[in-house]
Amino acid sequence: MLQPALSLVLEALKEIRESQEKTFRVSRATLNRLLESRRHQNVPDIAAKAASLGQVRDRVCVCTKCPHLARSRTQTVFGVGNPDAELMFIGEAPGADEDARGEPFVGRAGQLLTRIIETMGLSRDEVYIANILKCRPDMPKGTPGNRPPTPQEMQTCIGYLVEQIEIIRPRVMVALGATAVEGLLGGRGVMRELRGKWHSYHDTPLMITYHPSYLLRNQSPSEKRKVWEDMMAVLEELDRPISDRQRNYFL
Ligand code: URA
Repeated sequence: MLQPALSLVLEALKEIRESQEKTFRVSRATLNRLLESRRHQNVPDIAAKAASLGQVRDRVCVCTKCPHLARSRTQTVFGVGNPDAELMFIGEAPGADEDARGEPFVGRAGQLLTRIIETMGLSRDEVYIANILKCRPDMPKGTPGNRPPTPQEMQTCIGYLVEQIEIIRPRVMVALGATAVEGLLGGRGVMRELRGKWHSYHDTPLMITYHPSYLLRNQSPSEKRKVWEDMMAVLEELDRPISDRQRNYFL
């Protein structure tokens, strides 16, 4: 975070130097004015991104490319968060809770993801959360639980996520679990070998980590710690400070 702040100040000072003022003196009021004007310059960008996302969302809402999923879903689950997010989390597909609420990661796994995000010093509103699939994979009538998406379903839906990524242009992405990896990178690898390392999605740094529902099934502190270490690497990549408390944290 320090670097963007510094470059903001340097750019503001450069503007003053290049202005007509004879003496190179900057009052606090002038500097504040410059910083404020720069802050507002970013607003149209966010508004444009929000509008573009809205257009994709409108198409997703009425999508029938997978007729079986269009029939079984309560609603589509597009994505949530900051259209201008620096950090984007990618999950698998909506489960029953998400299908009912229309928002990704709101069930038990979602509550754990929210805790991870908040422990990183962020909020759900600051990041962006989306899934490979926008519909809940259908289940035989009366069968509880969720199933993973099929390769065919992922291939049909992935274009929407690609559009979301291209609009948001996050600095860093996190793939949660093997299905997210398969959807983004195309192969199904071994999570133990993939996680904790930097990969790349079209030049955007991509961290692969375990899905929160894996952590709910496997309560071992060492697995939780691994996810937390992956998230600290993400914070470092985003130039975010990490406190001693965060360094010693176990999910
Ligand atoms: N699991 C996911 O991968 N995505 C959700 O939205 C919820 C659970």
